[in-house]
Amino acid sequence: MSQKVRVRFAPSPTGPLHIGGVRTALFNYLFAKKYDGDFILRIEDTDRSRYIEGAEDYIINALQWCGLPFDEGPRVQGPYGPYRQSERKMLYRKYADELIKKGKAYYAFDTAEKLDYHRKNHEAQGKTFIYNWHNRLKLDNSLSLMPETAQERIANGEEYVVRFLTPPDEKLQLIDMIRGSITIDTNTLDDKVLFKSDGMPTYHLANIVDDHLMKISHVIRGEEWLPSLALHQQLYDAFEWQAPSFAHLPLIMKPTGKGKLSKRDGEKLGFPVFPLQWKDSIGYRETGYFPEAVVNFLALLGWNPGTEQEIFNLQELIKAFDISRVNKSGARFDPDKTKWYNQQYLQKKTDAQLASLFQPILEAHDLPDTKRNPTYVEKIVALLKDRATFVSDFWELSEYFFRPPESYNEKAFQKQWKDNTSEIMGQLVSFLEGLSDFSEDILEQKVKGWIGEMKLSFGKVLPPLRLAIVGDMKGPHLFTIMSLIGQSDSIERIQRAAVLLGKLSNK
Ligand code: GLU
Repeated sequence: MSQKVRVRFAPSPTGPLHIGGVRTALFNYLFAKKYDGDFILRIEDTDRSRYIEGAEDYIINALQWCGLPFDEGPRVQGPYGPYRQSERKMLYRKYADELIKKGKAYYAFDTAEKLDYHRKNHEAQGKTFIYNWHNRLKLDNSLSLMPETAQERIANGEEYVVRFLTPPDEKLQLIDMIRGSITIDTNTLDDKVLFKSDGMPTYHLANIVDDHLMKISHVIRGEEWLPSLALHQQLYDAFEWQAPSFAHLPLIMKPTGKGKLSKRDGEKLGFPVFPLQWKDSIGYRETGYFPEAVVNFLALLGWNPGTEQEIFNLQELIKAFDISRVNKSGARFDPDKTKWYNQQYLQKKTDAQLASLFQPILEAHDLPDTKRNPTYVEKIVALLKDRATFVSDFWELSEYFFRPPESYNEKAFQKQWKDNTSEIMGQLVSFLEGLSDFSEDILEQKVKGWIGEMKLSFGKVLPPLRLAIVGDMKGPHLFTIMSLIGQSDSIERIQRAAVLLGKLSNK
């Protein structure tokens, strides 16, 4: 690429960043880094009525958590700042004036009530009101008025907006890097407002001016902005500026059915739609997702590498990313697949890493220090990690390694605890007390030998033994568990179960 690649992620701080927004940021980031370019964060906050306190912090924290640092943006110096549109406010007016001077835009005085009246009137007749070539001369603007009258009304302080003068009867040829060539008939377009009566530009004007001033080479954004492309291209032409290249990313669709993924889908099906917690909505971070897993699954939502490879770290993504391999059609969101990704990344962590991530959970459970010994915890996570999707799963999977069972699985008890089981367990305890080596293999050999000598069967001893140790029929190899929790703990558990379950079975 001859021109320096400069892309921007330009969210409006109107609430938390949706996971689709994070994907837009990610694709921008990958594209920039692939071509040694710059990734810029621009906060588009010209619509003050939709501004939400805390949203900008949220956006920045989310990018940071995902490991997508921006090269220029709010709080990071850069040659094209400021990077918040509200701080660039004074800059846009002259561009609106320039368009008016060039005859590419005009003043419009129509009040909100008047426009609403037209809208309703049209609706009643089954039509849509569009402010454009076919009716603009009948409306209240500087094209329908005498020039002096318009000037006078402005001078008298009357409120007005500046609208783009869409030329009629033109066929616009637009190019999208993902969708190819698109033809738009200008007669179908409306004269969009560029500048508002509150002295602020609309999204369209500010966006184009800033992309130009910030030397943006490629605009990569969500498909919902595709309808704005015609206006944006016309604005570049009107200013006689070179337009950037455009790529509109496919929507992220609901797990089932039609339509784009919404917050409600997440609530209904129990998965996050935000990267981080926002008010009552829990995010990917709080659910226990690793940021690498989130980045990986997002990259494959709408893009494919053209191979079977599914696991990519960020560096590999930068290398493999190719915008021409982004799909045109919507990408279906699959919550199970996101879990699968997390599981894959969990398996990649070392036992020591997982053990230390598990520590805060153990701390919250008020355990003796010996049970939180890092080497002990490491052995346990190593045993159980292939059953875990999140670090938080470890507690449920391994609770019995840390404290004796508080209850026993009712069904297993009914099935496994016979009238003489408590007695057998009592005899087993005496045998276990006599052992000097409690290492896994020796223990297994000895206990199995004892079962033979006692003329008992494995089925009579091992399932109730597991129930006594674990409280359930789950878990890894029984002798591994016993060896890990140790001789005295194992014996205590068997004794306790023999008493408690013995009483129950004799009722
Ligand atoms: N401010 C727009 C948004 O909230 C940016 C669209 C664009 O990237 O041009 O998504």
